[in-house]
Amino acid sequence: MSTTSSRTPSRTTQGQGRLYDSIVDTIGNTPCIRLNRIAPAHVRVYVKAEYFNPAASVKDRLAVSIIEEAERSGQLKPGQTVVEATSGNTGIGLAMVCAAKGYPLVVTMADSFSIERRRLMRFLGARVVLTPRAAKGLGMYNKAKELAEANGWFLARQFETSANALIHENTTARELLADFKGERLDYWVTGYGTGGTVTGVARVLRRERPDTKIILSEPAIAALVGSGVAQQRTADQSPAVSHSAFTPHPIQGWTPDFIPYVLQEAVDGKYYDELIPVTGPDAIAWSRRLAAEEGIFTGISGGASLAVTMQVAARAPAGSVLCCMLPDTGERYLSTPLFEGVATEMTDDEVALSKSTPGYQMPA
Ligand code: PMP
Repeated sequence: MSTTSSRTPSRTTQGQGRLYDSIVDTIGNTPCIRLNRIAPAHVRVYVKAEYFNPAASVKDRLAVSIIEEAERSGQLKPGQTVVEATSGNTGIGLAMVCAAKGYPLVVTMADSFSIERRRLMRFLGARVVLTPRAAKGLGMYNKAKELAEANGWFLARQFETSANALIHENTTARELLADFKGERLDYWVTGYGTGGTVTGVARVLRRERPDTKIILSEPAIAALVGSGVAQQRTADQSPAVSHSAFTPHPIQGWTPDFIPYVLQEAVDGKYYDELIPVTGPDAIAWSRRLAAEEGIFTGISGGASLAVTMQVAARAPAGSVLCCMLPDTGERYLSTPLFEGVATEMTDDEVALSKSTPGYQMPA
């Protein structure tokens, strides 16, 4: 019999109150969740957990937007093949959306990204064409373009398309406004990959929550925006060269080796109040703490945003409210440095625990 029974009623749920016609209708409406154990006591920190999306990342939003905007404009014909260069989450999101809507998908991806991302895309019915890591982001990007031109495929162009920031303006930002209605929201923290999240959300926050400070982050060893060096582009807004401030960094999904056109609007329009660089080790450390001490399971970029959020929280006035984007799930990183040092076999401590009672011990 429980000795801790309290007056708190047992948990119940009510269902969604609706039926869903397609997996794509479940995209968005991700929760903002308070951190109760690792945040400083003088502030409230929330994380917007994008891994609640059906393919477990923020890029599900972009994927459905690109496909449905192209359907609407007639650029994408029924059954036409879609092709895109992606470090993983966009590919996984596109694979989910294309599977649901019946479009074949080809993804180009540098061979440096995690194995589970490739296999996930193939599992979702896509074909994955690897490109040499030495050719960096630009290599996989140019390969996608080449394949699109050679075959008459629809190129998704996540780094340039207006469908990218648009979906964050229409969904991510609206969700933040609704969830923080009547509440303070002093800081909103994000990094960038394409820049869709920051550009789309900032358009709305600048207009409707002008007191909210927008904090943008990028890897310390790839501080492209911080360098002040402008990105050279071709006539179709794609990058002409690899940016001089780029070096390979472990924060997958963040900062490609060029400043994306989608992000350029946020840079030119001063959509952020502070730009704070973050290191890979800090990102990994905060992702681990978030999992082990809050039960919230995000990838390296989520850890990076949280590292910056905690830095801002430490100096924020008492009573401040902060919200940080968590772009994806930690499960996507089992083969990466995020899980380095996480044991497969029993640790000494676990062996000792096993031996502390007589039964069911593993053979030595
Ligand atoms: N984190 C991860 C893991 C991502 O895959 C992405 C998207 N590439 C981002 C962050 C950044 O999102 P956005 O492209 O909207 O800037």
